[in-house]
Amino acid sequence: MSKTIFILGAGASIAHSQGSFPSYNEFFLKARNLNLINEEGSGKVLKKYESLREYVQKIMKKDILSISEKNTIDIERLMTYIDIEIENADEPEPYKILRKTLLELIIELFEKLSNNIKEKRGDYNDLLENIKGDYTIITFNWDLLLDRILQSKKQYQNLEELIDSEMDLMAFHQPINSHLLSQNGYYLKLHGSVDWKYCSHSNCDAKNKVLISEENICGRCIKPLNKLIIPPIINKQYKIYPFIEKLWTLARLQLTVAEELVIWGYRLPPTDFYSDWLIRTSNNVKKVSIINPDCFRKIKDQKLQRNMKFLEPFLDIFLSDKKSTEMNYYESFSDYIHNIKYDDKYK
Ligand SMILES: [Zn+2]
Repeated sequence: MSKTIFILGAGASIAHSQGSFPSYNEFFLKARNLNLINEEGSGKVLKKYESLREYVQKIMKKDILSISEKNTIDIERLMTYIDIEIENADEPEPYKILRKTLLELIIELFEKLSNNIKEKRGDYNDLLENIKGDYTIITFNWDLLLDRILQSKKQYQNLEELIDSEMDLMAFHQPINSHLLSQNGYYLKLHGSVDWKYCSHSNCDAKNKVLISEENICGRCIKPLNKLIIPPIINKQYKIYPFIEKLWTLARLQLTVAEELVIWGYRLPPTDFYSDWLIRTSNNVKKVSIINPDCFRKIKDQKLQRNMKFLEPFLDIFLSDKKSTEMNYYESFSDYIHNIKYDDKYK
């Protein structure tokens, strides 16, 4: 039996939503176009985003209100700067508030965008039709586009079971068969999800446990719940939440037995050593497919040139003297299904 793992990044949700979901450098542009950070009409920044605007001006020399497609703000970078401030500041509280404000903006943007495209069919529907029960989907996306479509599948039910077992003390006694675990198919959201919440109150017996709930108050200690999404790049935050760490452990277990990887819409950020390390655990992989319009650049007369800035980190993982991994490149998910390779397409 051959196990396939899909690894999804922002590009997959962008493709499914036909461009209405943002890439890492389109967040503020989309948020402004939907009037989430400014007053409609006047263009004045909303009060709750004033200090975020000031901080971005200070550190990135950019204005969150006057950005264009050419002059963008990389949100992964911005989150990383804020995290470094929190680690180093004598008074980290204002930076913690900045991080919270930014996370709330991200969640609000995703909720708005999801409501706008509820009924449309897209690439994720094709994904659904092309996965078997033992396939695993690892995603770095926080949004719910795929969750909605995947709900009837075993992968999603296994995720629900993992969340349910968070508060179930009997789970301690469950015998674990790691062979069965690796044969099972999962949906692993390694950076959290906009609908996951947790209680961070230190005296609560549900501290750091994950739940999916409409409620904003913890039912155990009656304190406010937090939303659980982890900024990319630094990634070591995943250790703070036992549930996220469990998902990473499962991801590693799955990757060690995988024979085929399909990496869709995911770029390896240069400083994200944890994800790089995780993908490197796929030692038995024979075939890698990368689905991303960024694999190649179109130069004169539609001729293609490899985009090494994007490809290099992957080639470094999968191609070495000792390995002979088959690498395939596709421009879109539909090309992948129909096996139309990127360079054949433009011959
Ligand atoms: Zn609590």
